Amino acid sequence: MFCFLSQVLGRFNRARAARLALPHHVCQTPLFMPVGTQGTIKGLTTNQLEEIGCQIILGNTYHLALRPTSELLDEAGGLHKFMNWPRALLTDSGGFQMVSLLHLADITEKGVTFQNRIGADIIMALDDVVKTTITGPRIEEAMYRTLRWIDRCIAAHERPHDQNLFGIVQGGLDPILRDICVRGLVDRNLPGYAIGGLAGGEDKDSFWRVVAQCTAALPEDKPRYVMGVGYPLDIVVCSALGADMYDCVYPTRTARFGTALVPEGVLKLKHRAMADDTRPIDPTCSCMVCKNYTRAYIHCLVTKDAMGSQLLSYHNLYYIMQFPKGDVPEWVCNAMEVAGIDISSCCAPFSSQSHQEYNSKKCFTEEIDEMEVELERL
Ligand SMILES: [Zn+2]
Repeated sequence: MFCFLSQVLGRFNRARAARLALPHHVCQTPLFMPVGTQGTIKGLTTNQLEEIGCQIILGNTYHLALRPTSELLDEAGGLHKFMNWPRALLTDSGGFQMVSLLHLADITEKGVTFQNRIGADIIMALDDVVKTTITGPRIEEAMYRTLRWIDRCIAAHERPHDQNLFGIVQGGLDPILRDICVRGLVDRNLPGYAIGGLAGGEDKDSFWRVVAQCTAALPEDKPRYVMGVGYPLDIVVCSALGADMYDCVYPTRTARFGTALVPEGVLKLKHRAMADDTRPIDPTCSCMVCKNYTRAYIHCLVTKDAMGSQLLSYHNLYYIMQFPKGDVPEWVCNAMEVAGIDISSCCAPFSSQSHQEYNSKKCFTEEIDEMEVELERL
């Protein structure tokens, strides 16, 4: 086991910035991991990913097992070589998608074997994921199944010397179940821990409370990864509560819809008002796209040429890795109080009036509907 927070660079109450030593890269936390599917972050080269400060990429085991196939990756010397990515990689268990394809009894072992072949720095244990909006005995069943599966993952893991197996805390929104799961996983002394099952439609107050409970109970010297989190504000709040790692398809998926992340929220590049706007996407951003291209140019591209979404993906990933700034809703103030951080002096809470103004601004519109439409299409 050699994934650990080797050096804490800074600490403020529960928040920490640290070095995370992985086999292929010494990362600095807190960090965001873009999600790649078939060994690529759509539209960006690995050089560009290094340029924007990407330290670790998340690869989807299920997709990689189908194409290019785990056998081919094994032959190619692992995913790092295959995709020409010198820095760190994390692979998910793939079990979520494999449930329908393989006999249930084989899932844990096959998932780990696939991940051993892919060769990522961090591999995720198989967990039983249940939507947080579901209640009742299914949550308890999934949590205990996740605990049973961790031992099979540990037993099937062939490369513990150069791949770090992370356990995933489940238990829905129930603090007692979360507590049982955290303790069970910590007893196994794993190299790192993830908080799973969140970002699935639960209200924000429930969300941050689960994160606060788990981060407080997980070991100080191990990385803590909140899965599926990628909205700028969520990342800031989770980091204040002591989390270190995040992943989400949001910055790249929203780029494909022609949407840029900016301090005010989101900017719709498809909007007519962009057609003659000669400013950069975000005048305060120092990324390559904002230094070289105007909103008007990207407006021309977004519906017609893949380069539009490539430029937006570049900016969005750069933005999310710089750790965002902006106005603050009430649930954030509540979470910050628990984190011991007084934010009243540096930013005004988001009033309901300003929220309405924000929503009605042209070009800054709801994109959740669009996201849902695309999710249905997948
Ligand atoms: Zn930019």
